[in-house]
Amino acid sequence: METSNSHLEAQMLRWLADGRFMARPSQLNHLVVCDSCAGDLIQLFPDDIEGHVYDLLDEPDGPPPVADLPSVLRHLLATYRKWREAQRGAAPAAFETLLELTQKERLSAVREEPSLATLPVAEALMEEIPRWWHRDPHHAGDLAEVAVAILAPMEHAAPFLVPPSRALEALAHAWALRGNALRIQGELAQAEKYLEHAGDLADRSEGLKTRGRVAKLLAELFRGQRRFEEAAEACSEAEALYTETHDRQMWARTRVLMASILGESGDNEGAVAILRGLLEASGRKEMDEVTYLAATQNLCHRLVQVGRPDEALLGLKEVEVLTAAYDKPLTRCRVLWVRALALGDTGKQSEAEVLLRRVVETFSDQKMPYDAALAGLDLATAYLRAGKSSQAKDLAQELTPIFLRQGIHREATAAGLVATQALERETATVAFLRDVIRFLQHARRDPSLTYKIPGD
Ligand SMILES: [Zn+2]
Repeated sequence: METSNSHLEAQMLRWLADGRFMARPSQLNHLVVCDSCAGDLIQLFPDDIEGHVYDLLDEPDGPPPVADLPSVLRHLLATYRKWREAQRGAAPAAFETLLELTQKERLSAVREEPSLATLPVAEALMEEIPRWWHRDPHHAGDLAEVAVAILAPMEHAAPFLVPPSRALEALAHAWALRGNALRIQGELAQAEKYLEHAGDLADRSEGLKTRGRVAKLLAELFRGQRRFEEAAEACSEAEALYTETHDRQMWARTRVLMASILGESGDNEGAVAILRGLLEASGRKEMDEVTYLAATQNLCHRLVQVGRPDEALLGLKEVEVLTAAYDKPLTRCRVLWVRALALGDTGKQSEAEVLLRRVVETFSDQKMPYDAALAGLDLATAYLRAGKSSQAKDLAQELTPIFLRQGIHREATAAGLVATQALERETATVAFLRDVIRFLQHARRDPSLTYKIPGD
């Protein structure tokens, strides 16, 4: 912040803090624009007042709860509070302005226009980001970059408009969002750097919620990199932090994540145990709907994988009731997918085939080629198991263009085409298809993996 005229001398600040001297209007004017002098002054007040300053600023209205505040401090607080209210009021319009600009324009606008570079604007940007994770992770990353550009200068400046601990927490959050956007785009190495940086900032801020948030995102990153031990460790840390903050919903999400880390590391039994435990301990009321649905559906999926398809079919009934009311064809489609696999394993071959075909078509129509391809290979596996190699061959011709569609990265396309060619030549086996499916599942989270043909 710019300073008007010269700084106040140390002796003068001491007198003001002691109340031995009434501040002149020019001195008050200087104090409200000079972070350095205001900071020095606030440090001169007794500890109990100094520690309260930021809380006092956050009091939404009414007089500060400390009765005998020195008049100079009262004046400072009143001024800062008015500024902060003005910033909050202006944030929605500033946010809309930023959205309309190109990324390059946004970054220079927040550098040049102070009214755009405020904490409430950064918070509005960060609230917007999760909506874009899967629709457009690149855009999500752009918005997070703008939030970082707004917040980074606040870390060093110690402006009283933003309590330093809150600026630090917000900055940690913004870096974490940037990292997560990269993770979703498959740029895992760079994502790791950003998330580690977010972790350092979050530790310094001592904000438990932010630390929990970063730890959970790191766990998701490590899971994608198949560094399961580190993933489980970060996930446990997030769990502990959310236990400490009594955030049952986030805690439940970390349990679902832990189950998926175990499941992907090959410990499906462990995953089943965690999900069962979670559903017994928390039940439907303590979880948000999405988490409850994820827990129940993932449990059914893991039950199929540990060879208990009958239990899975039982559990799916509840999931299907819950999702019936949803207007989300993709959610329902994923449930059908699990049902198809469970039916196949209980010997209901033709029912499974009909459902898998529907799943492939739905994903394909919804422009989800990666899922369409995976479900297609499940269908091919079902055909091979039933000895229907000519149907598998026809299916391969349908799957080839899906593997060539946009949205499937190069190595995954290569693996998929090896599979469709083997199906067309009738040399594919169930074990071979399973291997390709496993590769595609791993490579989805980490596009840097290279496909090796088994036996090569
Ligand atoms: Zn000054």
